[in-house]
Amino acid sequence: MQIEQASEMGACPGVKRAFAIAEKAARERGRVHTLGPLVHNRQAVAHLSHLGIDTIEKLQNTHCQTIIIPAHGAPPEIWEEMKKRGLEIIDATCPIVRDAQKKAHELSQDGFQIVIFGNSGHPEVRGLLGQAGNQAQATQDAQNIILEQQKLGILSQTTQNQNDFNQFVDNLTRRFLASLKEMRVINTICDATSKRQEAAIKLSPKVDLILVIGGPDSANTHRLAEICAKTGVITHLIETATDIMPEWFKPHTRIGITAGTSTPDQTINEVIQTLQKL
Ligand code: SF4
Repeated sequence: MQIEQASEMGACPGVKRAFAIAEKAARERGRVHTLGPLVHNRQAVAHLSHLGIDTIEKLQNTHCQTIIIPAHGAPPEIWEEMKKRGLEIIDATCPIVRDAQKKAHELSQDGFQIVIFGNSGHPEVRGLLGQAGNQAQATQDAQNIILEQQKLGILSQTTQNQNDFNQFVDNLTRRFLASLKEMRVINTICDATSKRQEAAIKLSPKVDLILVIGGPDSANTHRLAEICAKTGVITHLIETATDIMPEWFKPHTRIGITAGTSTPDQTINEVIQTLQKL
């Protein structure tokens, strides 16, 4: 079996930074808490718990003193709530997410109707919506947009696929540009995400099968798997080495590997070691 890894894969700078901030906080304070998982990966969250970093889902009914904001950020109302409760807040929001929040806020201040290309239920998108004002809308289907103002601002969840965002913008441009006074598109897709997607596309034709390693809740891992599958290569999304089925590999000898931005190096190494033993 020949194993080939994507040239860019696994933990991104924003995730590594969030880990470093949380680990330092736990070393200095003992036990600390993150509001929602620091990253969408169960192995990473379990590892953090051993280091004294636990996850809470809500601020209500907790007695924690220190809260860490995860890499994907938090909406303004959560910040307000934490301040009201007198909690110590440690901000591990990725600078790229923070920049996208700032852009959403500026568009809102400039009177734009704001559309965010993304999954409205994702914590990062909830944070962007919070900055974008009451009339902002998040969707991945351009047909859902009804034009209400003469100024339209469009930006993206940082982990979306660039081609999908291009098509989304193209659709809105064709439908609405003639009725608009101004249209502003801000490309907030993160470079680390794009590079991982491009590397997966380059890897696909060189292998018979690709394993995409990452958590089932990780949006960018799912997107990597979708992108690989679209190239026509057999694609399996796995969380850990225990998900590997030996029968997948019988007719296939060239195996490609990629991983989401929240997947720990250890999980990737365990998958490679398991493949080498097969
Ligand atoms: S994927 Fe990009 S935006 Fe998200 S945490 Fe990583 S570096 Fe930051």
